[in-house]
Amino acid sequence: MSAENTDTGPDSLEISSGKIMQNNYRQDMPPWGSGAAWDAANRSLDSLIQRNRMALDPVVILAQKVQARMVSIFSLLDDLCQVTCPWCPDPCCLAARVWIDFKDLLFLHLAGHPVPPEQLLSDFKESCRYWSPRGCTLPRVSRPWVCTWHLCPTQKVILRRKAPSVQEKLRHAVQGITAGRKAMEAEFIRIVS
Ligand code: SF4
Ligand code: SF4
Repeated sequence: MSAENTDTGPDSLEISSGKIMQNNYRQDMPPWGSGAAWDAANRSLDSLIQRNRMALDPVVILAQKVQARMVSIFSLLDDLCQVTCPWCPDPCCLAARVWIDFKDLLFLHLAGHPVPPEQLLSDFKESCRYWSPRGCTLPRVSRPWVCTWHLCPTQKVILRRKAPSVQEKLRHAVQGITAGRKAMEAEFIRIVS
């Protein structure tokens, strides 16, 4: 495999496993921002997973636990969006500097979810390609984790009006998912390195 991940053109057909897992990116652009780099990263990660398929069973279980916790808060988050986003005068997605990072990509591959056809944006001067006036066009489970846990000020106000048990459930789930994603990534790197 090549060790290149330049995000600059069609030459980046393969990305080394170490390079993908570094999660590094140039500060002026998101990782795997070009179509070629995105495809190469996904091919390389898929190949790495296939080569270590048996050993990665425990990591797949970690990804499935993350998924179960994510799904458990989707209805609450959908409710918060439904009462805020359709009337939002300044949608946060249009200015967000967010991207699918290595943990997001690893989760999608291990849990068997569709990988979006391209990175959210190829350049921080752009807006997310998956935004539409009717909201995000990606399934919630395929969005970067930051897009799910982030609540804007308006949504936080509405959340604070809900029962303490509801707020606590969300807080607990977000902590558990964040920790689960870290464990998933660390165990994956330990096994394939
Ligand atoms: S999350 Fe908040 S800021 Fe973002 S689009 Fe919805 S209402 Fe607007
Ligand atoms: S992926 Fe969806 S939620 Fe995240 S920034 Fe893009 S449009 Fe917004």
